[in-house]
Amino acid sequence: MSRRLVVLGAGTAGTMIVNKLRRRLSREEWEITVVDQDDVHPYQPGLLFLPFGIYDAEQLSRPRHEFVPDGVELVIAEIDRVDTAEDTVYLTDGRTLAYDYLVIATGTSPRPDQTPGMLGSEWRRSVFDFYTLEGATALAQALQGFDGGRLVVHVTDMPIKCPVAPLEFTFLAEAWLREHHLRDRVELVFVTPLPGAFTKPVASARLGGLLEERKVLVESDFLVESIDNDRKCLVSYDEREVPFDLLVTVPLNMGADFVERSGLGDELNYVPVDKRTFLSTAHDNIFAIGDASDIPTSKAGSVAHFSVEVFVDNFVDHVAGRAMVEWFDGHANCFIESGDKKALLIDFNYDTEPLTGTYPVPYVGPLGLLKETRANHLGKLAFRWIYWNVLLPGRPIPLPAHMSMAGKHPAPTKETSR
Ligand SMILES: Cc1cc2nc3c(=O)[nH]c(=O)nc-3n(C[C@H](O)[C@H](O)[C@H](O)COP(=O)(O)OP(=O)(O)OC[C@H]3O[C@@H](n4cnc5c(N)ncnc54)[C@H](O)[C@@H]3O)c2cc1C
Repeated sequence: MSRRLVVLGAGTAGTMIVNKLRRRLSREEWEITVVDQDDVHPYQPGLLFLPFGIYDAEQLSRPRHEFVPDGVELVIAEIDRVDTAEDTVYLTDGRTLAYDYLVIATGTSPRPDQTPGMLGSEWRRSVFDFYTLEGATALAQALQGFDGGRLVVHVTDMPIKCPVAPLEFTFLAEAWLREHHLRDRVELVFVTPLPGAFTKPVASARLGGLLEERKVLVESDFLVESIDNDRKCLVSYDEREVPFDLLVTVPLNMGADFVERSGLGDELNYVPVDKRTFLSTAHDNIFAIGDASDIPTSKAGSVAHFSVEVFVDNFVDHVAGRAMVEWFDGHANCFIESGDKKALLIDFNYDTEPLTGTYPVPYVGPLGLLKETRANHLGKLAFRWIYWNVLLPGRPIPLPAHMSMAGKHPAPTKETSR
């Protein structure tokens, strides 16, 4: 009798997994099924550019089924819950899928419903998000009609996927306002729950410096309690208020609700796993990978990619009864658009914060770490082609899954930075 692998989510991670595992697992022995709620795969990093007219919605979505290989069944349905005692997935249309092994790759989603007032009368009038195709498209229209006032970019709480995206949006908005001769009529404000621009100290100082250079006001340690739609302001738990004419918010990000209904998640519906192998801490036949897991690194496509590289070898060993010998180190890298056709790049892992240097070839680059360059910007734009043509089909990319220190400069200590 064949063995059944069910993968939940045909996004970045789920699509790579089924492509790579279909090549590695024998067709006689293994049935592979992947489930997603719709057949539209968005290129999420492109959503950042959509409000500024750099991409349009058609360039950012493809049918999911085009990336699912022969020998893998794609089921389009919403997942209702997983019964871990019966090893069965229940779909909301009444169908069920039995599994021997389950991979949860259902990502994380913006949840504006979790902040009082966010979905109020100003939603999609003066309150927008850009983490969805609909939101980014509506924001593109709103920006066309914006002719001055307070433009507030806001992060509700961490973790969010692509934690640098709100900063990138701020830099791009600043450049766009200059280009449209509006900059002197706009007060640009960045509102964050963090004490500084970003989570990691060296990157936070560098990015905070860029905000200062661009005369962006920063409202830090701001934990939003509600949005007052009548007075058009953000209200924090410590009773601070930030008024806006146009608010671009990143709502609370949460894992899928079925994770909670299945008793598989933490308080934000992320699945607790071993951060080195992605194996569920509660079930020996369940893995969670990509944004759906609780691993303590950025929620990013790059992390999904490096994780899948490690996961596939481990999975083949695990189902054969061998020990999993590959360990994921939390490797992440992210381009950070900084406006004027330039970008920075950061590369880090669980233990090492983003440092200066070169990537991927030590001392050569061509990409510069924590440095604004045109090559980084071109790298970011080129990534869309790589995503559709190399990454999703699970073709090899010559980038090591583990972070390397070669070509990196150690962080300045207090002694050396004086
Ligand atoms: C604006 C923006 C910019 C970004 N920029 C970058 C960047 O520059 N670099 C980078 O590395 N990353 C970036 N990211 C993050 C990156 O896109 C994600 O981290 C990555 O896609 C995560 O992959 P995943 O497979 O875990 O989740 P996803 O790709 O989101 O896939 C999850 C899938 O699960 C499905 N699903 C969820 N719930 C259910 C359910 N109940 N039933 C059925 N199906 C369900 C969804 O439909 C979805 O297809 C960005 C994200 C955004 C929003």
